[in-house]
Amino acid sequence: MTAPILRSLAELRTKTNEWHRNGETIGVVPTMGALHEGHLSLAQAAKEGCDRVIVTIFVNPKQFNNPEDLANYPRTEHEDAKKLAPYGVDAIYVPDPHEVYPDGFSTTVSVAGLTDMMEGPFRPGHFEGVATVVAKLFLQTQADRAYFGEKDYQQLLVVRRMARDLNIPIEVIGCSTVREPSGLAMSSRNLLLSPEGLRVAERMNNVMRHVADGLATGKDFAPLAQEAKENLLQAGFSEIEYIDLRCAETLENLSKASKPARLFVTAWAGGVRLIDNIPVNPV
Ligand code: AMP
Repeated sequence: MTAPILRSLAELRTKTNEWHRNGETIGVVPTMGALHEGHLSLAQAAKEGCDRVIVTIFVNPKQFNNPEDLANYPRTEHEDAKKLAPYGVDAIYVPDPHEVYPDGFSTTVSVAGLTDMMEGPFRPGHFEGVATVVAKLFLQTQADRAYFGEKDYQQLLVVRRMARDLNIPIEVIGCSTVREPSGLAMSSRNLLLSPEGLRVAERMNNVMRHVADGLATGKDFAPLAQEAKENLLQAGFSEIEYIDLRCAETLENLSKASKPARLFVTAWAGGVRLIDNIPVNPV
């Protein structure tokens, strides 16, 4: 059975108040829709960890720094509801835009430090948009736990810090990235790739694994990053925005895998911006 789609905060609160009155825990999975197996894995983790699960679908205009990207973002609400049906989700919250940003909305949530690097400078205003909408969704759903993908690792850390700093009583849980058999991280943006673009995109994970293997033998990151850049260009990527090795907790730059780390790559294939990251164990 498909879960009920709720479009107003009043409808949502009727449910969440009842659940909390009954002593049930609530998990929330914030998404922008166009659901794939990555999103569904979060719904499954939420179902395993909580009595009730709310999946939210909201294409948040405030986190798009590029109007074309916002206009092209895939919207597939009907299919999304069908895909969620087997997961026993209790409600799908698809808020009307005025429920999120009523007239005169004037508040921005901004997380310093963690947003100064990687996606931050490349997407001005993006993390303010994310932190603002996620703070609202946390407060609107009154959830006890929230499930986010490590696919957007920097976002996961930003959201966790925001909830902690603002004393929002929610546990932010990170879940592993779900990949295609080729290793390509699942993403709603993959739908925008042409067959040729997809062929290029599928090479990214191999290049990243090669860097991780080198780091595992104790090699320095700088020459491995240079080699990876050349390999990505050779594979057909048109632009590489960054290849970074960073501490998994603080996101400080590392020159070697000296502590638990993540390798981050952002590059363009076939006119689509792809981001990915993998864990790197310390040697
Ligand atoms: P989005 O709809 O792209 O905003 O993503 C909603 C949530 O799904 C975020 O927490 C993402 O990190 C997560 N997500 C997106 N792709 C994947 C994936 N391939 N595996 C796991 N989680 C993902």
